[in-house]
Amino acid sequence: MARIVMKFGGTSVGDLDRIRNVARLVKREVDAGNEVSVVVSAMSGVTNQLVGYCQSLSPLHDAREYDTVVATGEQVTTGLLSIALQEAGVDARSWLGWQLPIRTDNAHGKARIESIEGGELINRMQAGQVPVVAGFQGIGPDHRITTLGRGGSDTSAVAVAAAVRADRCDIYTDVDGVYTTDPRIVARARKLDRISYEEMLELASVGSKVLQTRSVELAMKERVRVRVLSSFADPEGENVGTLVVDEDEIVEKEIVSGIAYSRDEAKITVRRVPDRPGVAAHVLGPLTEANVNVDMIVQNVAEDGTTDMTFTVGTSDLPRAQAALSAAQVEIGFAEMSADPQVCKISVVGVGMRSHVGVATTMFRTLAEKGINIQVISTSEIKVSVLIAEEYAELAVRALHTAYGLDAA
Ligand code: ADP
Ligand code: ASP
Ligand code: MG
Repeated sequence: MARIVMKFGGTSVGDLDRIRNVARLVKREVDAGNEVSVVVSAMSGVTNQLVGYCQSLSPLHDAREYDTVVATGEQVTTGLLSIALQEAGVDARSWLGWQLPIRTDNAHGKARIESIEGGELINRMQAGQVPVVAGFQGIGPDHRITTLGRGGSDTSAVAVAAAVRADRCDIYTDVDGVYTTDPRIVARARKLDRISYEEMLELASVGSKVLQTRSVELAMKERVRVRVLSSFADPEGENVGTLVVDEDEIVEKEIVSGIAYSRDEAKITVRRVPDRPGVAAHVLGPLTEANVNVDMIVQNVAEDGTTDMTFTVGTSDLPRAQAALSAAQVEIGFAEMSADPQVCKISVVGVGMRSHVGVATTMFRTLAEKGINIQVISTSEIKVSVLIAEEYAELAVRALHTAYGLDAA
């Protein structure tokens, strides 16, 4: 007997037949004698629609009201799955974030979980009930509903798994594991049996949306065993998925283990800022105050004592970032600002980079051979990222996948 948290993403609960299918998967674990808690996402497409409603009414909408709107998708699926489970003869009940409660900080739209009360969930599971928890949502210090950022149900699931001290956290999705790159872009992507926390964290943080970054961070910190697997696999067949494990549990270490892309990037260039100590803090300060994260940064110094700064922000933060910079234009002293949302960040990730040189050179050469211009570069110990025009995203990912020898035979 094990204690398991099962998380189902948007496609897995995309319609009533799929919700019935999920109920069957849960029932199987219950019938096998396991204690199960479930975490669900909204039905696929629903969150996008709700986000779209908010943006249409106001690009600079109140983030607290945004959360009130977008958290509703998960309320629907937690109720529907509970009904489907009851219909299948499984005792189940829905739990919204505020009912547990799942406490978060006050960063509406991208809140962080601070604590989850796991005691009641454990009691219910021990009594044979299946709690069905709404992913993505929590309650902030001011008692208002918060959401955890796109893809946040993964983090809800890992946090619930930590709170109930689960033996594992199974993330059911629409692919059968973590691949060397997005299998929807590269048909020759290879499924990985195992991936290290460090690599998964890096891949997620640069755009592999198969797991939300914070879910991996939390799993690493709380030692939660995470498995990624398909909810559409043949129930009689093998469905082992991909295990996220410690680096030393991986025998054959690749130099590059994965490639990710993110279209959720927008480039901002601020021109002719007086070049003096503290200029970067001056430009980025207003963005921090507006709760906008800045990712890649380059600064070019001109000979006339001014400097140009280019950096990237998440696409959804672009209107907020532009507004914050415009408001601070006189104080910062820049001459002009431009923005380009038609960009894409491509990253190669692998722990082998620590001990091998030339990974970045291969990347730059491969892109040059395809005639793709690199706009911004950033690196970390196990990652190289470049910003390129969005139209070349797929071409770049495919070319790099081949260049690093990742194509399936
Ligand atoms: P869910 O709704 O189940 O949370 P997501 O759409 O958030 O599912 O994440 C699953 C998707 O992640 C897949 O359909 C796939 O297109 C994408 N993806 C991106 N990179 C990878 C990768 N390296 N391995 C597997 N899937 C990936
Ligand atoms: N429904 C939310 C989203 O689409 C959360 C999730 O699916 O994990 O971002
Ligand atoms: Mg997801």
